[in-house]
Amino acid sequence: MDLGIRGKRAIVCASSKGLGRGVAEKLAEAGVDLTLNARTEAVLRETAKEIADTYGVKVQIVATDVTTEQGRKELLAAEPQPDILVNNAGGPPAGLWSDWHEEEWLKAVNANMLTPIYLMNAILPGMIERKWGRVVNITSGSVKSPIAQLGLSNAARSGLTGFVAGTARQVARHGVIINNLLPGSHETDRIKGLLEKTSETKGISIEQARAEAHAANPTGRFGTKEEFGAAAAFLCSQYSGFIVGQNLLLDGGAFNSTLG
Ligand code: NAP
Repeated sequence: MDLGIRGKRAIVCASSKGLGRGVAEKLAEAGVDLTLNARTEAVLRETAKEIADTYGVKVQIVATDVTTEQGRKELLAAEPQPDILVNNAGGPPAGLWSDWHEEEWLKAVNANMLTPIYLMNAILPGMIERKWGRVVNITSGSVKSPIAQLGLSNAARSGLTGFVAGTARQVARHGVIINNLLPGSHETDRIKGLLEKTSETKGISIEQARAEAHAANPTGRFGTKEEFGAAAAFLCSQYSGFIVGQNLLLDGGAFNSTLG
């Protein structure tokens, strides 16, 4: 299927690895030129080269921390007029509700709520003027179904979800479409870290923690970054124009519900 976005330009935040990279690859496959971002320059450079070589699109990199004002300035200076914005950043640490104080809260809210909001604030006016834009925010299944040890994530991402719910409906008439993608467990470095934590807490091996997590999912496995990237690319396509302010859960059916 031709997604109808060949030649468009995208910023994909936090995209040298994991889900962000999965999205970048599927946008590249659809012919989108990319601005990729992550903090570790060597890994980012390698990812950019592999994507450019494989898909023949233009790829530039901005090695910076997207959760800082300076980082966002650098990103916007490199690509001031993207047609597509994919918001992403690392997730907050796991822990107990009593572990987190002002510093941890401010960090989580900054990374997983305010950073995507500030980037939308900067980029939406241009999209509105040009009468076309797509924004996908990578949030988490924890917005819909809380993961107790990820309280910082549950809370900060819920704030972003509330902002998107109203804003998506304000900008849709200008051809600007905003949606959220909610990953359940996907095979990335992030999930490896969480499995290590589970193995520690439960006193089981990492392999056992992984086997239990796979068994608990209706598909019997974790999701892949390719599956995730393809869903994101569709939400960035010409055909997503009537999907507004939605929260699409990609979790293999882990959230047990008849509707919604
Ligand atoms: P990952 O495999 O650890 O990859 C994270 C990527 O983001 C890397 O490229 C990393 O590169 C970059 N990054 C992290 N912090 C950054 C920052 N401040 N500025 C710029 N780039 C940054 O993680 P993932 O599994 O893809 O997860 C992506 C997001 O989805 C996270 O917020 C995670 O909490 C959420 N999520 C993931 C899952 C899952 O199962 N994987 C489930 C639910 C939610 P550098 O370290 O070099 O910056």
